[in-house]
Amino acid sequence: MLSKVVERGGKIFPRTKCTNLIQKENGHWELQMKHQTRGDFMINAKFLFDASGRQGHLCRMLDLPIVKYDQLVGVGAFLHFKVPKVIAQEMFIETVKDGWWYCAALPGQRMVVTLFSDADVIKKQQLRQPENWNALLSATKNIKKRIQHAVADEQPWVRNAFSQLTDSSSRSNFLAIGDAAAAFDPISSMGIGFAVSSACNAARAVDYFFSGNADGIKSYQQDIKSIFNQYLDLRKQYYRTEQRWAEEPFWERRI
Ligand SMILES: Cc1cc2nc3c(=O)[nH]c(=O)nc-3n(C[C@H](O)[C@H](O)[C@H](O)COP(=O)(O)OP(=O)(O)OC[C@H]3O[C@@H](n4cnc5c(N)ncnc54)[C@H](O)[C@@H]3O)c2cc1C
Repeated sequence: MLSKVVERGGKIFPRTKCTNLIQKENGHWELQMKHQTRGDFMINAKFLFDASGRQGHLCRMLDLPIVKYDQLVGVGAFLHFKVPKVIAQEMFIETVKDGWWYCAALPGQRMVVTLFSDADVIKKQQLRQPENWNALLSATKNIKKRIQHAVADEQPWVRNAFSQLTDSSSRSNFLAIGDAAAAFDPISSMGIGFAVSSACNAARAVDYFFSGNADGIKSYQQDIKSIFNQYLDLRKQYYRTEQRWAEEPFWERRI
């Protein structure tokens, strides 16, 4: 994707931070950038996108309204099999008292295994500690069978996976896309599809905008709200299919 951007005349500034931004009266932007070796420089832009994921770096700098719906985190590890093994190319989910485990085959005799739970539950039970995480993994019924003879490549890592909606409608010449606009619980499998489709829709809306029609921008933002509302219903439906631990904090918050 990066080489396509360059082929079409785009410029990439890797490992560069935006440290400040100002919107001018005509709606255009002035961005103060910082690069480790090239130092400080300025970018002038007619339009700005925030595609920085759940952290929504620019949305936060602009103090836009962001609603966070839960505190889901994933604690996971990549595993590899020491002896050659035919791994079924599939994903598997197993629910447990404090959340759910996800396990998927990756190319090259590897798998990823992740426990999804709430940040407070993870903290209370110290599930970032490899021994506690491994103990919970060993207590699963099905996932443990799928990863038999696999070894972890590293200590468990932690990733934010909370649901979140950002309202960028108060700013002109600005759109958030992907997770920065709306972030979904991975149980929905909506994240990557939405990131790609929102980027395409935003590009189309901005194309109309520069030919004098701002309706595309408005409908882009309305569409995101309505996709997110549908998603909240869907999320409830998914979680309601598990009733065994309805009184446990993780499940009670969702069903
Ligand atoms: C553990 C886990 C499992 C998941 N599983 C699935 C799944 O099975 N299916 C699915 O569809 N989705 C899944 N998701 C969600 C999916 O990963 C995201 O929805 C998707 O990656 C969003 O794409 P994005 O481009 O918006 O953001 P990201 O993929 O987060 O990309 C954001 C980019 O911005 C860069 N960045 C961040 N801050 C800055 C900054 N300040 N300046 C410059 N660059 C910055 C980051 O380095 C990154 O390259 C999962 C998420 C998690 C956490």
